[in-house]
Amino acid sequence: MIFRILLGSFLVFALSLVHAERALPQGIRSPAKREVRATAQDFFDYIHKDYQPRAEKLTAEDVEASWKFNTNITAHNEQEMIASSEKVAKFDKEIATYIRANFKDVDFSANATLKRVRDKLVLLGDANLPDAEFSELQTVEARMKNIYSTAKVCKTIGVHADDVEDKCPKEHQLELEPGITQLIQNSRDEPLLKHLWKSWRDATGRHMKHDYARYVVLKNKGAQMDGYADNGAAWRSTYVEPDLEYLDQNFIDEAEGIWQQLKPLYEQLHAYVRHSLQTQYPTVRGLRNPKGPIPAHLLGNMWAQQWSNLQDFSRPHPDKPSLDVTPAMVEKNYTANGMFHMSDDFFASLGLIRMPGKFWDHSMLSKPDPKERLVVCHASAWDFYNREDFRIKQCTDIRMKDFITVHHEMGHVEYYLQYKDLEIPFRRGANDGFHEAVGDTLALSVQTPSHLKSLGLLADSFNINDSDLEENSLYSMALEKIAFLPFGYLMDKYRYDIFNGKIKPENYNSKWWEYLAEYQGICAPVPRSEDDFDAGAKFHVPSSVPYMRYFVSFIIQFQFHEAMCKEAGYTGPLHRCDISDPSLGEGGKRAGALLAKTLKMGSSQPWQNAIETITKGKTRKMDAGPLLEFFKPMQEWLTKKNQELKLIPGWHKITDCSAENFTSWLTQYNTEASAVMFADVTASWNYQTNITDANEAAMLAASANSAAFTQAKSHEMEAIFNATDVLQLNKTERRVFEKLSKLGDAALEAGDFNSLKTLIANMEKTYSTAKVCKDRGIRLDMAKCPEKHQLELEPHIKDILDKSRDPEEMKYLWHAWRDATGKKMRKDYISYIGLKNKAAVADGYKDTAEVWRAPYVEPSYNYTDANFLEEVDKLWVQMKPLYQDLHAYIRVKLRDLYGDKVITNLNGPIPAHLLSNMWAQSWLGLLGDTQPFRGKPQLDVSTEMVAQKWDADKMFKTSEKFFTDLGLIAMPQEFWSKSMLTKPEGREVVCHASAWDFYNGKDFTIKQCTSPNMQDLFTVHQ
Ligand SMILES: [Zn+2]
Repeated sequence: MIFRILLGSFLVFALSLVHAERALPQGIRSPAKREVRATAQDFFDYIHKDYQPRAEKLTAEDVEASWKFNTNITAHNEQEMIASSEKVAKFDKEIATYIRANFKDVDFSANATLKRVRDKLVLLGDANLPDAEFSELQTVEARMKNIYSTAKVCKTIGVHADDVEDKCPKEHQLELEPGITQLIQNSRDEPLLKHLWKSWRDATGRHMKHDYARYVVLKNKGAQMDGYADNGAAWRSTYVEPDLEYLDQNFIDEAEGIWQQLKPLYEQLHAYVRHSLQTQYPTVRGLRNPKGPIPAHLLGNMWAQQWSNLQDFSRPHPDKPSLDVTPAMVEKNYTANGMFHMSDDFFASLGLIRMPGKFWDHSMLSKPDPKERLVVCHASAWDFYNREDFRIKQCTDIRMKDFITVHHEMGHVEYYLQYKDLEIPFRRGANDGFHEAVGDTLALSVQTPSHLKSLGLLADSFNINDSDLEENSLYSMALEKIAFLPFGYLMDKYRYDIFNGKIKPENYNSKWWEYLAEYQGICAPVPRSEDDFDAGAKFHVPSSVPYMRYFVSFIIQFQFHEAMCKEAGYTGPLHRCDISDPSLGEGGKRAGALLAKTLKMGSSQPWQNAIETITKGKTRKMDAGPLLEFFKPMQEWLTKKNQELKLIPGWHKITDCSAENFTSWLTQYNTEASAVMFADVTASWNYQTNITDANEAAMLAASANSAAFTQAKSHEMEAIFNATDVLQLNKTERRVFEKLSKLGDAALEAGDFNSLKTLIANMEKTYSTAKVCKDRGIRLDMAKCPEKHQLELEPHIKDILDKSRDPEEMKYLWHAWRDATGKKMRKDYISYIGLKNKAAVADGYKDTAEVWRAPYVEPSYNYTDANFLEEVDKLWVQMKPLYQDLHAYIRVKLRDLYGDKVITNLNGPIPAHLLSNMWAQSWLGLLGDTQPFRGKPQLDVSTEMVAQKWDADKMFKTSEKFFTDLGLIAMPQEFWSKSMLTKPEGREVVCHASAWDFYNGKDFTIKQCTSPNMQDLFTVHQ
């Protein structure tokens, strides 16, 4: 099925317009400079007497050539079409050149409208290009369109789109219209849907990627020659009104603002539909994720752009009928021709212009037999610019959706008819969105249950006042109108970014999926690569038709509808308004007259004036208000329903939800996790290198955020990949899976988590800010201790322990330090153990000790926790004799040093304060007093380091050189600029040496209160 709105109308509409703007038959006037300055009247005469008659003739011929190709795709017709385009382009150049030469300085102050004509006619677009490039662009575009229009896929799963001719039986070969479309809409066979979804992309986008890149270069060149930044800006120029100071950026901002306004409604619909699909397809992988995007092939539409075909299983009240009147249309023997006449009658009932006779003679209203000729089925409305020929080309099916499309296309022709007597450059919509909105606006009335009932398409038993039925009806409208919004918006956001160079050809497909994941919340059901070009699987991309118009149209059609309902005298809820309702009397005609008045303006005035006209002065802006008003009851229903079902609106931006793809999930995880972890580590670094209350609060917040993320991702992962899936992962993937299944502290509830982190921060602070007074009588009472006597662990206490040989001094410091630290945190530590163990148990461990040992355990090699404990014990037993020898030796040396009053028992343990280290963990400080051969040079180079003025920087540089000499990686620039290598002045820090990874791939730092001594030199290397 065609997206009806896509209305290829523009296809021709655009071509012909551009041509028209340029057309001037060759040789009518030589582009020589005039002697006398031209007046506005001269220009007016030129337009009406010279330019217009010839342009109309030439354009009609050109549109005819295009029509022929589109309704009969042959190489010959394609050549004719291209030749015609080239002819027109050539004339256009002459016109623009002539106007530029002769009417550049005309005083238009009394006639702004004429100036608008002049300004539009000097733009050439593609025709700016040198002949060879113009011709190349035509060829490239024709080739892409041709690929799209003639693409076929095989219904048999397993037959690749490239093998259709050879390997697919004729009766299984499918074209987009009607075969593929019907299956995508109606089939609930997931593997088949996936096959069709992929095959269509294989048959189209994949074959045009290179052409598209070339097309972009050429389009940009043409646009730039008109003075635009790029072709995206040229496309947006339909919305730009420099005289009103409404510039390119104003439009971009306004569109984004409108999308943001609508997003919450879309998210509610998305959440509800995702849930319905989960019920419909319980085994499909991509749907298991409760916060996942929706796999793109399940939405009843090749591009997931409108979801109307899901209402059979997702509508609010499944026991009540849906509003799909297709069966009734079939039953009543509707024909394509009949549907167009009904639409024509509807327009006439509002006092609008009927389709002229030639329309009925020349239009193509149903698909011709493909054996006879191939056609571009995409529905479109055509203006031949001769004020006589207007046509529609549509492969109309007998179904409700097509009935609405008929109105849509007729809306275009109605616009053509209303403005046909304006100057050619004004024969277009006030902006592109207006043109798309006309038919849709009227269809909003046609689609009301009351109107459908009046047409006899709803059974007499259908009670239009039943609120359940009304919800079904509004839901069906939401699947059509709300589901479309992000797609309508992103199509051109994506192409704007291609034209402006933000997206390069090598990223075409990955970026496309980023946009789909971001705006639509859909994901690819099979893996995609840069060999694919999935955007090219959508008509408007190969056909070079801008798309923002549909987004704009979907907004303003509700403004128009509201304005017309009001004009008709209707006062009820907007979604029930049918402007043709007989009870409104002449109201429908009044509304029709208001619309006609707006349409007649064409593009002769800024579109803001057109909005002002139709809203009768209420506003001059695009406004999402009427749309939201229309869907208010549905938004309320969805919000309530989602709450009942405990659904969370929104989705993770996963681009690939294919079965095989744990790796792709992981890639996504890594991207998201590095951002979260970077924030977490940064906050922690900031705190540890500057202990303040504010930094502590920031660290706790970042840490809580990180925990919430860990929890969410782990749950998500387990929701998507169940036990069977895990068995299919390879070893590395399974390791990752298992690691991510463990939450660590994040397994705690938020309250407990926060308590734990606060306990840790408090203990860390106690430890890091602890001081001991040198005066033994004062001990820990810093208020009484002179500043100079306040000893910190690093460097003061460490130094003293390293050098002092006064047992009383060492004992004092040893004892006071424990009082200043451990004793103060005893209670915190008990709570800490409780919480840590709680987290460990939640992760499936016995206790935190087992968690800490987990990195040593390798279940895949049958190396268990018990094995590890046993092995560590063994190592200790093995080392113990050596340690005992050293211990005995040192004990003797210490007795020699301190006498037997201090070392009372030669067979006993050594008093802990005598080992030159606060924790007796390294005895290096005793080297000078205990080495076997005193008097010989020591290996302790500390003294020498001080003498040679080594500083922290030199120590780290020396260490780095040692690493690089081994062929290892040098520290990056960020290391040297960000690390804290010495203890800073004026702020409290956690001195304990540590190395940091910020998880962003570039920031790695060390924090160390380095002193120039051998011990620290070792630590530096470590
Ligand atoms: Zn259209």
